[in-house]
Amino acid sequence: MRGKMRAIVKRQAAVGADLETVDIPTPGPHDVLVKVRATSICGTDLHIWEWDPWAQGRIQLPRRFGHELAGDVVEVGQAVTLVKPGDYVSADSHIVCGHCHQCRTGQQHICGNLSILGVDVDGCFADYAIIPQTSIWKNSPNLRPEVACIQDPLGNAVYATLAEGICGKTVAVFGCGPVGLFSIGVARASGAGPIFAVDQNDYRLELARRMGASHLLKSDEQVVGEILAATGGVGVEVLLEMSGSAEAIHRGFEVLAKGGRFTAFGIPREPVPQFDLANQVIFKGARILGINGREMFRTWYQMASLLDSGALDPSPVITHSFPLEEYRTAFELMLSPQRECGKIVLIP
Ligand SMILES: [Zn+2]
Ligand SMILES: [Zn+2]
Repeated sequence: MRGKMRAIVKRQAAVGADLETVDIPTPGPHDVLVKVRATSICGTDLHIWEWDPWAQGRIQLPRRFGHELAGDVVEVGQAVTLVKPGDYVSADSHIVCGHCHQCRTGQQHICGNLSILGVDVDGCFADYAIIPQTSIWKNSPNLRPEVACIQDPLGNAVYATLAEGICGKTVAVFGCGPVGLFSIGVARASGAGPIFAVDQNDYRLELARRMGASHLLKSDEQVVGEILAATGGVGVEVLLEMSGSAEAIHRGFEVLAKGGRFTAFGIPREPVPQFDLANQVIFKGARILGINGREMFRTWYQMASLLDSGALDPSPVITHSFPLEEYRTAFELMLSPQRECGKIVLIP
C-alpha cells in the first residue's frame, strides 16, 4: 500500500514530539500492516515525550512512538499465515526473536533479544503501523477499539495478578496508575478479597473503588498499621507493587503476610536502599515475582476469557479519548501534577 499517513514523530532530542506526514510503511515478509483504529498512551511514552535519561539512553531518533493499539489488517507480508486483510487485531509490544534460550523454553515475553514496539522500532501513534506476525493478537469482533487498544497494559495486570493463585486471598495494590487499577479489576473478577488500594491521589482512589477495591488508603506512614489492623495483624497474602517507589516497596514488604507473594511490577528509578532480605523475605518465607510484559500468549487467552465473559470491565480506567491530532492536550493532561486521568486513548 503506497501513500502518506500522519504519525507522531520524536525527531529532536528535547521535550515533545510533532505530528508529521510520512510515507505509509511497507511490511516485510513476516510483517502485518495495520490501519490503527485506536491507540493509547503509556508511561513509557511519557518518558519518550519528556526525553528523560532513560529515553536518551535507549531511543534512536527519529522515532515514531506508541505501542498500544487496535486496528484492522490492511496488508500482510508473503510469509504471514496468522492473519489476513480485514482481521481486527491488537499487538503485544514485545517483539521476540523466536530462537534464543528464553524463546525456546516458553518464555518469549522475556526474549534475550527483545525489542519493543515504539521504542526500538517504529510504533503506532499513526494512521498505520507495522506489526511483526509473532506479536499479533486477533481480537474478538465485539471488543470496542478503546478497550482492545489497552490490552497490552491490561495484560501486564492480568499476568501480575494471576501469576499465582489469587482466589480467596487478601490483596493490596500499591500504586493506582492504570496497571494497578486494572489489577484491582482482575483480582476482583478472580474472587480475591479484601482488596486494599493504596495511592496518594484521590482521583485514582475513586477509580480504584470503581474497579472493585474494598479499602481505599492514602500512601502515608499510617498505611502499614491500617492494613495490619484490617487483617488481624496477619498482613496481605498478595502484594501487587505497581508504583516503583522505594518507600512503597518497603511498606509493601511490611504488610506482606508470612508465606505471601510479592509481585514486583513498578520500576524503581534507582536501586532500593536498605532492603532487608533476611527479615522481609527469607524468615518470612516470601516469594518475589518480577513481572515484565505478558506471557505470550497465555496471558492474552486469559485476558480474552475475562473480557468476553464480562467478568472484567476495564472501561472505568479509560477516562479520556482524543483525536490523534489533539495529542498535545493528551500528553499535557497525563503530565499535569494533578494526574486526573486514567488511560488516555488517541483515535486516528
Ligand atoms: Zn504500554
Ligand atoms: Zn528470543
